[in-house]
Amino acid sequence: MQQTEHKKRVFVTGGAGYIGSHVVLALGEAGYEVLTYDNLSTGNRDSLLYGDLVVGDMDDKELLVKTLTAFKPDAVMHFAASIEVGESVSNPLKYYRNNSANALNLLEAMRMTGVGQMIFSSTAAVYGNPAKLPVVEETPLLPINPYGTSKMMTEHFLADLSLADKDFRYVALRYFNVAGADPQARLGQDYANPTHLITRALKTALGAFPKLQVFGTDYPTEDGTCIRDYIHVADLAQAHLDALSYLFAGASSAIFNCGYGHGFSVTDVVDMAKQVTGIDFLVEETDRREGDPAELIAGCAKIRNVLDWHPRHDDLETILKTAWEWEKKLVARGA
Ligand code: UDP
Repeated sequence: MQQTEHKKRVFVTGGAGYIGSHVVLALGEAGYEVLTYDNLSTGNRDSLLYGDLVVGDMDDKELLVKTLTAFKPDAVMHFAASIEVGESVSNPLKYYRNNSANALNLLEAMRMTGVGQMIFSSTAAVYGNPAKLPVVEETPLLPINPYGTSKMMTEHFLADLSLADKDFRYVALRYFNVAGADPQARLGQDYANPTHLITRALKTALGAFPKLQVFGTDYPTEDGTCIRDYIHVADLAQAHLDALSYLFAGASSAIFNCGYGHGFSVTDVVDMAKQVTGIDFLVEETDRREGDPAELIAGCAKIRNVLDWHPRHDDLETILKTAWEWEKKLVARGA
């Protein structure tokens, strides 16, 4: 961290969630002062290993203004959102409310309280089904599900605001498929009903689900299953710290893909989950899940060059192993 007259303060929405909690811990370890704002709808109080918590909803603008006024952050990180592609197709308004309308509340609250720097959790889902891979940041945004559209809308809010107001700067990080857990197993994903592939596979190995469904084997990929760029959550947390240093150094607003630049199919992940756990859990091939693009791989030159991001866990086995240690810990805890 750079020398400053006071400890830099970061206000984190969704800091009790999976990614948010890893970032809060990384911020704490790097010497920042952190305040988390979370309604605990999917996050857990126990996941907050650093700083204080304000329990509040993102649609409570009054509480947001009050909290920002009291804390006086130097920057905001906005994680609080709904994140399931399938659910966004069946319940789009939930996504437009939580991910778009509530982001407006936050931006308005920031303007009212003079907070001018933000790091926004965006997603590779803004690209839809890109024609060319790896997908770079300049690729036109053509989301194919309400989740991606809801995040794209917020990117537009940020871009337009930064043009209108020279005192507002932001970094949008477009996450590819975030997975894994803190290498010291202090944190990990802790949702009651996880839908993401890696967590679902590991919980199936532990017997929490009778089988793992593979959604579609007729995609135009080598083995017919979807390909994703899985990024370790600790590397993603580091990307947030790097983005923060970038903004604090006075740099202009920017958008970065967060991925490793190579992908694995659903079948690759299932095979690795079986290898890491040593458990041959039941797998069932089913129809495609609505809203899934065939292949998403990050072009990641920009984040490496501009933010000087150095990932340390670019390895599917490490991702699975850290997530597996965490899952076993949850079982031992009786969670
Ligand atoms: N997937 C699957 N079975 C599951 C969960 C996910 O086959 O139980 C597939 C899903 O269709 C997609 C890939 O795994 O092709 C990654 O999905 P996930 O929900 O983990 O992340 P997303 O790419 O939707 O953000």
